[in-house]
Amino acid sequence: MIKKQASCNDEFDPNSLSFEQALEKIQQSIQAIKGKKNVTIREAAGHILAEDVTSPLDVPPFVNSAMDGYAINASDIPQSGDAELKVTGKSFAGAPFNGSIKSGETIRIMTGAVVPDGADTVIMQEHAEVNGDNIKIGSEHKAKQNVRNPGDDFFTGDTIIKAGERLSPAKLGLLASVGVTEFKVIRKPVVAFFSTGDELKGVGQNLEPGDIYDSNRYILFGMLQKMGVECIDMGVVADIKEEIELTLKEAANIADLVITSGGASVGEADFIKIILDEIGEVGFWKIAMKPGKPLAFGHINDTIFFGLPGNPVSAMATFYQFVQPSLRLLEGESITAPVKLQARCISKLKKRPGRTDFQRGIMSSDENGQLVVDTTGIQGSHMLSSMAKANCFIVLKRDAGDVEPGETVEVQPFNELI
Ligand code: AMP
Ligand code: MG
Repeated sequence: MIKKQASCNDEFDPNSLSFEQALEKIQQSIQAIKGKKNVTIREAAGHILAEDVTSPLDVPPFVNSAMDGYAINASDIPQSGDAELKVTGKSFAGAPFNGSIKSGETIRIMTGAVVPDGADTVIMQEHAEVNGDNIKIGSEHKAKQNVRNPGDDFFTGDTIIKAGERLSPAKLGLLASVGVTEFKVIRKPVVAFFSTGDELKGVGQNLEPGDIYDSNRYILFGMLQKMGVECIDMGVVADIKEEIELTLKEAANIADLVITSGGASVGEADFIKIILDEIGEVGFWKIAMKPGKPLAFGHINDTIFFGLPGNPVSAMATFYQFVQPSLRLLEGESITAPVKLQARCISKLKKRPGRTDFQRGIMSSDENGQLVVDTTGIQGSHMLSSMAKANCFIVLKRDAGDVEPGETVEVQPFNELI
């Protein structure tokens, strides 16, 4: 009988790290980029703010109306019955009323317009009866209603965005609302990537017998672009140790993080781990997850290195689970565990105990509004169509076995990266 060795098909490999251990090791070994740059508000979307921003003004900056209607003094609200008030002017957004109002008077006011001195309350126009130059109001109104006060949102000196926060459109709006248009952000990480494999052809090239098109570089390009990092596509490198080594060294010189795909396993042409051992430091290279068991992680000098598996679904899953949080940490963003939901699985799922599975699923709501998830079908890690159809991972714990229809499973909805 032949003596078998551990293989990537084994579910229990004593040399592989658990998914959680791998994630923790990666997170512990990443130092945030220090480099900062000044940007204007139009260049800032998606960057991480490098310094706290405090507000130079109160927002809202003045007492203003929340409605179209009439500004009055609350003492003019009748105890019972109606009261008649004289309309003495108007205050429009950007065109305040010059003067103040006295008891028995009101002015026409629009949403966002300054509430004049002497007024503290706004009556909605629908609740006032116009009678020539006068209006009639009832007794049901409350003092100070429909008025927005200075500092309702925040006051001068309040920190409105903290260093380490990513600048979303809402946050850009917040900065604009206080007139801050230039600030410091963390520079974007530079990411260099290439594919390895004698069989790989770039799109547009002819396929010889045994060749396939390189899909990983296009996947990586898309995902990196969505992350907003600066990416450098270094092409396809053949399975020649010296060439991979040379390209890897060049990539490590120019980038903060280097990603390769393919060649991370233990075949005759799989050089990634060997080279990383020689020119850098291997953190680990086997993870008890499916897809994506052979994943090389380490450093080349100060550059972070990920050697993703060649199978495209494995490359995507490992990018999503490991490279994505690494890039966020590299930018100094504090990261939180991804949102996981419970869903009723409507199909049978095959699963052998031993590895954490990230199966591809399609989640939706059933007729009762409950979350359900279906499999995308056969879960081959070479089958990109299953990834392209999916909108979530079905995460099955390491020790779990098959899932029967009707059982509850954990799903992790995809974000915009996939
Ligand atoms: P490897 O990790 O190099 O052993 O590759 C595992 C499988 O993934 C093989 O079937 C490769 O042909 C395939 N593969 C590797 N790199 C790519 C790529 N960039 N695009 C598509 N398939 C790939
Ligand atoms: Mg290969």
